[in-house]
Amino acid sequence: MARIVVLGTGFAGLWSAIGAARKLDELGMRDGSVEVVAINARKHHSIRVRNYEADLGETLVPLSDVLDPIGVRWIEGAVSGIDVASRSIAIRAQGAVRPQSLAYDRLVVALGSRLVHPPIPGLAEHAFDVDTYEGALRLEAHLRALPLLAPSAGRYTAVVVGAGLTGVEIAAELPARLGGIAGEGGGRAVRVILADRNAKIGQAMGGAQPVIERAMNALGVDLMPNASLKSVEANGIECVDGERIDAATVIWCGGMRANPLTEQIPVERDAAGRLFVDAFMRVEGVPGVFAAGDCAHALIDGVRPSVMSCQHGRPMGRYAGHNVVCDLLGLEMLPLHIDWYTTILDLGPWGAVYTEGWDRHLVAEGDAAKRTKRIINGERIYPPRTRVREEILAAAAPVVQAPPPRGA
Ligand SMILES: Cc1cc2nc3c(=O)[nH]c(=O)nc-3n(C[C@H](O)[C@H](O)[C@H](O)COP(=O)(O)OP(=O)(O)OC[C@H]3O[C@@H](n4cnc5c(N)ncnc54)[C@H](O)[C@@H]3O)c2cc1C
Repeated sequence: MARIVVLGTGFAGLWSAIGAARKLDELGMRDGSVEVVAINARKHHSIRVRNYEADLGETLVPLSDVLDPIGVRWIEGAVSGIDVASRSIAIRAQGAVRPQSLAYDRLVVALGSRLVHPPIPGLAEHAFDVDTYEGALRLEAHLRALPLLAPSAGRYTAVVVGAGLTGVEIAAELPARLGGIAGEGGGRAVRVILADRNAKIGQAMGGAQPVIERAMNALGVDLMPNASLKSVEANGIECVDGERIDAATVIWCGGMRANPLTEQIPVERDAAGRLFVDAFMRVEGVPGVFAAGDCAHALIDGVRPSVMSCQHGRPMGRYAGHNVVCDLLGLEMLPLHIDWYTTILDLGPWGAVYTEGWDRHLVAEGDAAKRTKRIINGERIYPPRTRVREEILAAAAPVVQAPPPRGA
């Protein structure tokens, strides 16, 4: 029996595993001669892009609902080692005392990314984040407990540090979330600040930048550009220029870096720690190893590097899954080429903003863009949850979807 091992079941890994199962099914290989095994730290597929929302109830999809019906074996456990020389993985399965070794014939590395944590004093101890489901849960529990704190200047003040996509999305949600928690009396004390060291908030957002500023103003979010974080304490932050802000809630959104396990693969990586892959998602220079999603750097249209996003992670996964089977069986592989790029950013109760192209020109805003965002967050990026084998397999076909509808 040959074994394909997929590390991670986020947007890239889940679709790699389903894509591999789909290709095997298409080839009529249902005799178990090729096994697909997926390994993930938890027993759910996390819709990570929704971690800025207050209600996380819909953001976990049980792996058993998606992988069991299609015959993909999955292991809940932590990957601790990748040895490409011996073609084996070290895993500490949930509940196991020692790591065990799992051999592979072909490997797909889809371990995603992590929030960058620079050595800023107090950051690790006091700042919250929305990078993971667990982080988002911790933040929500903290916000709900604020009324129990003794009244203080910053009890209902939240500072979001880092005004990239994630920072903007959580900042836009917070006035309403905090207002609801603070209640009648406390509502007036609610303050949300979005800080960034750049000269403009949402600086890299092209045509969406002025829309973000307008939305933040309408939502009552204070913008704080040119602000460099010096330290974080339990009750506030201090900036490099000496400004101090009282805040019971500090949320760090300082960017993402590829999973450090990519360092165990002895090849060059890009500045974000990502493995260089070709158009077939093969890691360059390591036979038998594929990568997809946030830990892979592909030239997505032949020229531009892929972006750490589920927009790219999902198709990278579908193609990696397809191609890993083809590689194993000596069949022709399919190159991934995506000739469009969009950004659809949630702006909380104000709406959303939709841009097209790498220069991000504005195509829709407000309610129209919000309808698109709801379709993306609620339908487009989910695997079928019907437990119907054929539907799940069909969803992993190696094709590039059309862009989401503009202002649906
Ligand atoms: C708040 C927020 C909003 C976002 N909004 C958008 C958006 O609007 N549009 C967009 O395109 N992208 C967005 N992103 C980015 C997007 O979520 C990521 O790019 C995407 O999740 C990457 O997919 P992935 O499969 O590579 O990694 P992940 O989704 O992170 O999956 C990696 C998987 O690997 C598992 N794993 C990691 N380490 C180990 C280990 N050692 N052992 C076992 N398992 C392990 C993890 O548990 C996880 O299941 C957002 C991200 C955040 C945090």
